[in-house]
Amino acid sequence: MIDDLTTGSEDSFSNSWISWFLSTKGNEYFCEVDEEYILDRFNLTGLNNDVQNYSQALELITDSLDDEDLDDEQRDAIENSARYLYGLIHARYIITSRGLAKMLDKYRKTDFGRCPRVFCASQPLLPVGLSDVPYTKAVKLYCPRCEDLYSPKSSRHGSIDGAYFGTSFPHMLFLVYPQHLPSKTTNSLPSTSTPTTSAHAAIGVDRYLPKIFGFPVHEMAKHARWQEAQRDLQISRLEESSRDPSYV
Ligand SMILES: [Zn+2]
Repeated sequence: MIDDLTTGSEDSFSNSWISWFLSTKGNEYFCEVDEEYILDRFNLTGLNNDVQNYSQALELITDSLDDEDLDDEQRDAIENSARYLYGLIHARYIITSRGLAKMLDKYRKTDFGRCPRVFCASQPLLPVGLSDVPYTKAVKLYCPRCEDLYSPKSSRHGSIDGAYFGTSFPHMLFLVYPQHLPSKTTNSLPSTSTPTTSAHAAIGVDRYLPKIFGFPVHEMAKHARWQEAQRDLQISRLEESSRDPSYV
């Protein structure tokens, strides 16, 4: 009984469709869109053309669907439309001030994972779309430190539509909260004895320099290309001289 009391908050949380959706495994990237935002039809302008069973999907999301007369097939169809509609509303919501604040909170809790790049020192990531058009590209993760993109580790996250987050979201977040933009210098790696070139040091980005026996690989490659060029030159000279009858 004590256990029931301690999880009491979860009970009230799991009553609505949105809470159920958010607690479903794989939906961890989504934040809770305020019902107030959803109920303001102005915010949903144009979505009715994109979503099948729009009215019923919207009713399901806002827990006002009367599904007594629906068969399983209809229910499934409405359920799918509701997930899709929620994603599209989510993309609009997370670039509003309320939405940005909620996503910032998730970013600070590392809900989107950390950058796998060593020099980024476990920098938290943010979800981003490569397109604002649904069914184009799956969601990617943006690292504000190396400014590169990564695929989510889990396939559940990797199959989420990128349009549910949109192409502007992470950049909008740092525009509104510039104090959360990480510095490009990584002082948090004390063991970086690797000397960075002055050019890299100047822009303050720690970059890995591939080396073989201490020599930067691109210089080795330059040397190898020079050697090959010399050899080719030598071969063509020899061939020329063997064709030239005056050369004996
Ligand atoms: Zn990074």
